[in-house]
Amino acid sequence: HASTPPNFIKNIITEDLKNGKVKEIVTRFPPEPNGYLHIGHAKAIWINFTLADEFGGRTNLRFDDTNPVKEDVEYVNSIKEDVKWLGFEWEELRFASDYFEEMYNRAVLLINKGKAYVDDLSADEIREKRGTLTEPGEDSPYRNRSIEDNLDLFTRMRAGEFKNGEKVLRAKIDMASPNINLRDPVIYRISHAAHHNTGDTWCIYPMYAFAHPLEDAIEGVTHSLCTIEFEDQRPFYDWVIAETEMPHAPHQYEFGRLNLASAVTSKRKLKMLVDEGIVDGWDDPRLPTISGLRRRGYTPDAIKSFVYEAGISKAQGIVDPAMLDHFIREDLKLKAPRSMAVLHPLKVVITNYPEDQTEWLEAENNTENPEMGNRQIPFSRELYIEQDDFMENPPNKYFRLFPGNEVRLKHAYFIKCNEVIKDEAGNVVEIHCTYDPETKSGTGFTGRKVKGTIHWVDAKSAVPAEFRLYEPLILEEDSEGEAESEGAEEKTFLDQINPNSLTLVQGYVEPELKDAKPQDKFQFFRHGYFNVDSKHSKPGEPVFNLVVSLKSSFQL
Ligand code: ATP
Ligand code: MG
Ligand code: MG
Repeated sequence: HASTPPNFIKNIITEDLKNGKVKEIVTRFPPEPNGYLHIGHAKAIWINFTLADEFGGRTNLRFDDTNPVKEDVEYVNSIKEDVKWLGFEWEELRFASDYFEEMYNRAVLLINKGKAYVDDLSADEIREKRGTLTEPGEDSPYRNRSIEDNLDLFTRMRAGEFKNGEKVLRAKIDMASPNINLRDPVIYRISHAAHHNTGDTWCIYPMYAFAHPLEDAIEGVTHSLCTIEFEDQRPFYDWVIAETEMPHAPHQYEFGRLNLASAVTSKRKLKMLVDEGIVDGWDDPRLPTISGLRRRGYTPDAIKSFVYEAGISKAQGIVDPAMLDHFIREDLKLKAPRSMAVLHPLKVVITNYPEDQTEWLEAENNTENPEMGNRQIPFSRELYIEQDDFMENPPNKYFRLFPGNEVRLKHAYFIKCNEVIKDEAGNVVEIHCTYDPETKSGTGFTGRKVKGTIHWVDAKSAVPAEFRLYEPLILEEDSEGEAESEGAEEKTFLDQINPNSLTLVQGYVEPELKDAKPQDKFQFFRHGYFNVDSKHSKPGEPVFNLVVSLKSSFQL
């Protein structure tokens, strides 16, 4: 989809262009570089880039890096990579921290207009005096400092004369406003911390709610799109633009977040999983991070179809991950070559097949997409099949291999099981079969029918491979809304980790896959879609991540 579905923001933009309110559409994607991006961010990225593009506009990638303590270049780099991988090109790459001088000057302008003051109250005292939804707030005793005193103190805050938390700069608006965000919000705080971009140049940093509108205005953003939890901030956003006398006035519009059921998307929780070593980095295939989805084997097209289907509205939807799985199946169906992999091998000896002979059988690479052509697969006297494709004492309606029964080997011959070999403990270790040369696939044999078709690999040439099978990382539903839990809930969150979220299996793949490259994708017959793992796979020793199984009851 090169465009967004019908939605309220598109309607606003269309009107704004028609009325001449704006001439060109400028949007931005403004992540804070304090973690890796996740599936929810993919929605915000898609909305910003696609909407601007639909109207011939442009989109900046802007790092909202106003909080030095949590930010890092590792995150900057991962975010750039993820946006590019999703297939979006930013017009300009910007850093909010490049605007610190301008923001400082705008704060000084507010002081000069009597619209901002330095407050000596502590963060706790400010919170206590802020009031509630039903009670107005209380003026700080420092609220009526003179402009001269405020200018002097703010200059000294910048010069580093005070410790963290000793003073803040607050907007002077209305402590009785029904909107709590307008009760003299803090706009600058002291933080003696090195910044990933500006180093030690600054020890005061603007607060998000003050910085963000300025960033948008500086970049000429016309439509500042953000998630619904910022709705109550909009009056302050407009206040900042007006009172700082920015020559360009952007406007904020809010859309509903995308939350994936039972997925962890809080950066704090994601970081905890990474730091505690519960997962294998931010790109662990069990995480809903963009890099985790990429490593698992999801594609940009599947992710974009998914966010398109989820749509753009003000409503917060919790979306079923089965919908994302639906779109990855749709995307890979015609693109991923089919192949055979045996995850739990059981040896089969074809006793009437000549020793030391190998023949090459023709197999189509994708039955639904003939353009992908054919390949040759080796067949010889010893093979591997799946352990559960054989039963010594099968129940009714078991159509796979059992003593006396005949099945089709995919792309090969009918085989019949004649003998079961067991070890001393009574475990089946090998089965002996005979094949019927007349039943070769592709020869049009119709003499008799079998009810089961099973897959296999040639034992001599098969390549040992590791398969990584996944289940949800979190056992109970722990989907997140706008509110993020703190403290006590942390413990329960870690208790909800599924101990079986990752299973390692050692099996075999067709010899062709020996040198499969990271991110190569395959449909393994009867098993599902798999992606070559980019961290653990080595040439000659492939590791495959299960992306998704083949079947689903999910309906769009
Ligand atoms: P933090 O908790 O650090 O604020 P965040 O998830 O809000 O994290 P940002 O880097 O501030 O991350 O997000 C960048 C943009 O992505 C913002 O505009 C934000 O509204 C949007 N965004 C974040 N999460 C979602 C989500 N689940 N659905 C849609 N958009 C989202
Ligand atoms: Mg944020
Ligand atoms: Mg957040």
